[in-house]
Amino acid sequence: MYDAIIVGAGPAGSTAALEMARKGYKVAVFEEHEKIGEPVRCAGLVSERVIKMHNEAVVNRIDGADIIFPDGREIHIEKKGHAYVIDRARFDESIAELAMAEGAKYFTGKKIMDVETGNHFEVGGVKARILIGADGANSRMAKMFHSGKMEYVYAIQGYARYEMEIEYVRVYLNHDFAPGFFAWIIPEDEKNVRIGLGATSKNLNSHFKKFLKTIDMEEDSIKKLTAGLIPVKLRKFIHKNIALVGDAAGQTKPTSGGGIYTGMTAAKMLADSVDDITKYEKEYMKKIGRELKKGKVAMKIFAKMNNRMLNMMGKIIDNDVDAINRYGDIDYPSIVIKELVKRHSLFVFKR
Ligand SMILES: Cc1cc2nc3c(=O)[nH]c(=O)nc-3n(C[C@H](O)[C@H](O)[C@H](O)COP(=O)(O)OP(=O)(O)OC[C@H]3O[C@@H](n4cnc5c(N)ncnc54)[C@H](O)[C@@H]3O)c2cc1C
Repeated sequence: MYDAIIVGAGPAGSTAALEMARKGYKVAVFEEHEKIGEPVRCAGLVSERVIKMHNEAVVNRIDGADIIFPDGREIHIEKKGHAYVIDRARFDESIAELAMAEGAKYFTGKKIMDVETGNHFEVGGVKARILIGADGANSRMAKMFHSGKMEYVYAIQGYARYEMEIEYVRVYLNHDFAPGFFAWIIPEDEKNVRIGLGATSKNLNSHFKKFLKTIDMEEDSIKKLTAGLIPVKLRKFIHKNIALVGDAAGQTKPTSGGGIYTGMTAAKMLADSVDDITKYEKEYMKKIGRELKKGKVAMKIFAKMNNRMLNMMGKIIDNDVDAINRYGDIDYPSIVIKELVKRHSLFVFKR
């Protein structure tokens, strides 16, 4: 009998496996793909906190961002070493390798469609007392155990050759081509970038074409275009001896779509609470859940803004870049949002 069956070998599932195996628990991980980490549906931009948790597969260091508003205003934010670009496939694979080295058993190429329940859980002859759903944004485990409906941002991303300053990401706020969210260009090195956008509406291809036109990029210069879902709502993530973790639980930042830090942190907390998994939910809500809820409120307000409002916001921020430099934190965006709202009552926009 295993202590836990984990469904999904993404950063959340494999971090849970690694931490639990290190504590001496017997863990079995089921992953639908043969190759862990593939296919990649992620821009791979993470904070230094993530690198402190798992220092592998870094391809570039980011020292700030240029934010581009609909009227063409560009605001430069300087934040040295605040973020890193990772090779997401290698990142996932390397966490799994560590977990295996600690004794976690991996079953790859095994898509879990059903779990037998009773006194214990059973998948393909493997029995365990706890089931962990780490099966991503479209979590089958969450659906199976009725953990509530999810809300999503739809995202699309590809790769291109494009020359830009390699220390800065470019973030485009424009609700014509990225309604409710934003578009990005993330440099991997001197010549290669990741380019994508998120939107609260589904017609991603037409949004993406519009974005490419705005930045004068040919459609056929984009390689390996993929679409993915970003959950933007926390679910109830404990149900008796079942725990959800990572995107399956909606543990992503609604303002940026980033879920690697929030999911890996959850996985560590879960591994600390194996003997009483209710502690995991309480602890997570106290340390990160509150931040995600504030992010959801901010995202809702942002999604209602039109481009004229975004331009107004640009004007305000331009006069107070210092606030972003001082308070900006990609894992805890509510800190800078709160500061800006405090300093500029005009953040109460009129349509
Ligand atoms: C376009 C895009 C860009 C993004 N950019 C960033 C970014 O820059 N920074 C950031 O922090 N986050 C980003 N995210 C979010 C980030 O990718 C996720 O938050 C993160 O991958 C969540 O990790 P996870 O382990 O919870 O889930 P996943 O990484 O999705 O892993 C789930 C695993 O479960 C497996 N699986 C699913 N169903 C089953 C099943 N039934 N049986 C067995 N295995 C199964 C999958 O194959 C997968 O390996 C982005 C997302 C998208 C869509």
